[in-house]
Amino acid sequence: MTQFSLPDYTLTSDQVPLVPSLSLPEVQRQQLKSEIKAQLKALDAALVAHYYVAGDIQELAEETGGCVSDSLEMARFGRDHPAQTLIVSGVRFMGETAKILSPEKQVFMPTLNAECSLDLGCPPEAFAEFIDQHADRTVVVYANTSARVKALADWVVTSSCALEIITALDRAGEKILWAPDQHLGGYIQNQTKADMLLWSGACVVHEEFKTQALEDMRRVYPDAGVLVHPESPAGVIELADAVGSTSAIINAARELPNKEFIVATDRGIFHKLRQLNPDKVFIEAPTAGDGATCRSCAHCPWMAMNELKCLNRVLGDAIYRAQNEIHIDSSIAERARLPLDRMLGFKA
Ligand code: SF4
Repeated sequence: MTQFSLPDYTLTSDQVPLVPSLSLPEVQRQQLKSEIKAQLKALDAALVAHYYVAGDIQELAEETGGCVSDSLEMARFGRDHPAQTLIVSGVRFMGETAKILSPEKQVFMPTLNAECSLDLGCPPEAFAEFIDQHADRTVVVYANTSARVKALADWVVTSSCALEIITALDRAGEKILWAPDQHLGGYIQNQTKADMLLWSGACVVHEEFKTQALEDMRRVYPDAGVLVHPESPAGVIELADAVGSTSAIINAARELPNKEFIVATDRGIFHKLRQLNPDKVFIEAPTAGDGATCRSCAHCPWMAMNELKCLNRVLGDAIYRAQNEIHIDSSIAERARLPLDRMLGFKA
């Protein structure tokens, strides 16, 4: 297996925004929700939301004929939906993916400030140099990257399909250059034994889950199943009963016989888990313990920027909407579409 030394592209605490968690009064929430529903209808827009955004927004997407899903299904849904206006509630790479796949549609987000530490931790110029140094490798990037990084890749994958695609590439004898998440890359490398050279980025949310504290928690809840997203550190993954994407975690919670689960991923997912399994108990995996930081709250600060007020504003305020529309240079978008289409057309 190839070893290569890269600078650490994990973000430091001062690069991660502090986003206050605001609880609106019930009357105001309901008022905003009914305004948003009316505006979605007036604009004939589809709301495409990720499992990590606020429960209110997930409900709005479902109640208005949009979707709530992981990034792979968000991409498919946006591409296949007849609406010419898409409102993507998630983080910026999700809006960019929707635009790449549907260049004829207008794609807006509640705020374009919603970034992702993996995207930020993979600057296109540095990544292009890395590729040049390893020109014999097939470039596979995680969906959590900018359009410019996708435009440098042979394949794009999400956590739902990464294992299957790397397995197929490995069987075809290809050596892989993987970016940006070192933990997900390490997990796949471990599972497939493929020759993978890993970029050094990390998700600031999943990296905070703590192995020792999780072991302690399992002693408190000995009958609980442990569900882990593979962006988490290797020690946390080793303790899992099921490892997988947000969709895989949701399926495992339904299928495993346990009545309690400890869940190591963004706590936004608890809305869907509790909705689908009202008789089961879901407990947040610990982010405290040695090495805990002020960002240890198991909730993505950029996902948290998707507030009802921003969503309402992007629908109702034309100037704000224009400021939060996704635009991608057409040559970059066309090149980035190739690896995305490869992923969407992949059959194991
Ligand atoms: S939870 Fe992590 S991987 Fe997901 S959007 Fe936030 S920073 Fe990116």
